[in-house]
Amino acid sequence: MGHVVEETRGQQGLDPAPYVETRLALARVRCEQRGVRLTPLRAAVLEVLLRQEKFVTAYELVDRLRKRNQVVPPMTVYRVLDFLIAQGLVHRLDTVNGYIPVRDVPDSGRYMVTICTRCAKVREVDTTVLGIQLDEELARAGLTRDSSVVEVRVICDRCRS
Ligand SMILES: [Zn+2]
Repeated sequence: MGHVVEETRGQQGLDPAPYVETRLALARVRCEQRGVRLTPLRAAVLEVLLRQEKFVTAYELVDRLRKRNQVVPPMTVYRVLDFLIAQGLVHRLDTVNGYIPVRDVPDSGRYMVTICTRCAKVREVDTTVLGIQLDEELARAGLTRDSSVVEVRVICDRCRS
């Protein structure tokens, strides 16, 4: 199994503020290259996600934006999320109906996300080798994966102890 790449978010002595700024700057470049605009609202939604260790639902996003004095209707938040997903900046976790930013392995397209069912903490695990094997097995069965991310529900070490 690959290494855990999640702990770069505000942990292990990494200051989250410049980290978030860097991610936002990279997102802006990515949008420019694609000829689309990372509007202030789109950037604000992405920033909220980048500052979380846990997955966030659309309604939690509405709440968090309101706390930042941005009143945004849920439909608009959904549209923003759709945009960010289309740009490869955000991933929707189908099993929990939540959202996380795509961070450290944006283009490999092969990773596993573990989701703690107790505290909602999300980790990304690079599973390039596993992913290739999975695709081979699926291909043998005549199937093609419709999602680049494998979601696994777990109990994290902190919640287990
Ligand atoms: Zn947990």
